[in-house]
Amino acid sequence: MSLAERYRSVLTNIEHSAIASGRTKEDIHLIVVSKNHPASLVAELITMGQISFGENRDQEASQKASELTAAGYQIDWHFVGQLQTNKVKSVLGYASTIHSIDRPSLVQELGKQLEKQDKSINGFIELNLTDDLGRGGVDEDQLIDLAELVLAEKRINLLGVMAVAGLQKDPRAEFERALRMSEKLKSVAPAATKLSLGMSEDYQVAIEMGATHIRVGSAITGPRPISA
Ligand SMILES: *Cc1c(COP(=O)(O)O)cnc(C)c1O
Repeated sequence: MSLAERYRSVLTNIEHSAIASGRTKEDIHLIVVSKNHPASLVAELITMGQISFGENRDQEASQKASELTAAGYQIDWHFVGQLQTNKVKSVLGYASTIHSIDRPSLVQELGKQLEKQDKSINGFIELNLTDDLGRGGVDEDQLIDLAELVLAEKRINLLGVMAVAGLQKDPRAEFERALRMSEKLKSVAPAATKLSLGMSEDYQVAIEMGATHIRVGSAITGPRPISA
């Protein structure tokens, strides 16, 4: 299949799953994860109508963003990877949305750099659905404390929660857990209703369960070249 065929097939699947959940395709925000693929692939997808792209490493993303901006493209960049505090300043230079807010030190640095750059950003709190405390994302018992810190930063517009289903896990059970944590978040942040759930393997399940944002890479871009 060509890039255009894979892209169209994912769009069709999104539409079907949206309808299955009582919504329409316009209710689902597709972020194409372009990590490990060149700027030229992003440019091709833009010509097909795609607007939002996701990246997980600042070094790669900032380079791609400046290359595409110089070429005249307007892109809505989403940062979906673990974000080190020393990269915050750079990421705010191009990203509209950060999906991986997971700890107090990151919230603090975001607040500081947003003030300096005089801008605002959309953010998701990333959930850790595993029992492994070393994984990215906040644990259930720290969710409310972190949410309160985010809510205190007026320049962060908290959209909701983001989660990655574990490998070899039933995505339904994983997303159920994320939905429960989303309800918990809404008890302190009623406007933070969005759900960034679902990747190539499970985006249809995610949409059927209420995802508003999906982050799809390889199902559209094809297999990733081996990363450096
Ligand atoms: C890479 C990545 C994706 C996309 O993964 P695919 O399986 O290629 O769709 C989505 N979310 C995050 C956080 C990622 O790192």
